[in-house]
Amino acid sequence: MHLILPNPRGFCAGVRMAIDVVDQIINLFPGEDVYVYHEIVHNKHVVNRFVDRGVHFVESIEEIPEGSIVVFSAHGVSPAVRQLARDRRLTSIDATCPLVTKVHAEAVRYARQGYQILLVGHRDHQEIAGTLGEAPHCTQVVESPDDIPSLTITDANKLVYLTQTTLSTDDAGVIIQALKKAFPNIKEPPSSDICYATTNRQHAVRQIGPECDVCIVIGSKNSSNSVRLTEICRNIGVPAWLMDDVSELNWDWFKTGNERVLVTAGASAPEDLVAQVCRALIERFGGTIEQREIFDEDVEFAPPGALRKIMESRGIDPESRRFRAETPTITHDLYGAVPLTVSAGRDN
Ligand code: SF4
Repeated sequence: MHLILPNPRGFCAGVRMAIDVVDQIINLFPGEDVYVYHEIVHNKHVVNRFVDRGVHFVESIEEIPEGSIVVFSAHGVSPAVRQLARDRRLTSIDATCPLVTKVHAEAVRYARQGYQILLVGHRDHQEIAGTLGEAPHCTQVVESPDDIPSLTITDANKLVYLTQTTLSTDDAGVIIQALKKAFPNIKEPPSSDICYATTNRQHAVRQIGPECDVCIVIGSKNSSNSVRLTEICRNIGVPAWLMDDVSELNWDWFKTGNERVLVTAGASAPEDLVAQVCRALIERFGGTIEQREIFDEDVEFAPPGALRKIMESRGIDPESRRFRAETPTITHDLYGAVPLTVSAGRDN
């Protein structure tokens, strides 16, 4: 069996930042209850590891005792949620990814300028709920071209579209083309709202997928970008499976044991889970692992403002913690003594 692991895969800078925020808060407030509004990132293992350390995950602000510490998840929250947290005198630490915050800022700006906003994304996703909440009076969600006939448009010359950060670039392209056809003067956001991490991971899968027999995506079922990676593989005719961890591996997916298998991970999936899957496959079938270098990611985020202030008040330099999308490394600790090659398929 030959396993091909694209780089990039797994954690993006926003996820690293959000996870580290919770980690820091646990360490800075020992013995205090820490609450996180929604899953900090959409990954079952990341959440369970924090639950094991005593963190409480809640789906409504009312569940949090007054005066407690709350972390807002990487997906962002609406102004109404922020206000609720203030009303309950919570200490709020905002771990929203800066690239989601950018879309919020665009929504606020266009709403102030009198635009109607067409928000392309999944209605039930927390990111869409947060962005929609910035300007609910003038925002409508578009999930597919089928939604276009039922939109209520007051001035087709004063329209803008924005998108969820984790969409499939292919699917979003289809919806955007349909919007442009229906509303030729619709304004575009200044730059794509689909983030670098989503775009890069999808591009790597499109590039490597066609040379593989099977694709395995490590990620949770509620992780939008992980689901999109799986769909992209299936759309190019490669059987693809999304799984949280090695326990979901099914040997029946492999007919000869000599398959070429693309193994990748959504932006919220830890590398140790990728390694467990690879080790299980190599132990069962033998074979080699190849890391295919597609993109170097150099995006870096600083800790959020509220955390910076707390760190400074404790004499900790916030600049000592910056969050970079790092190249996952195939270490002996995680992967064992696997036969490994590193190859270039680099686009940048
Ligand atoms: S997937 Fe993109 S938007 Fe989401 S946390 Fe990562 S970098 Fe931010």
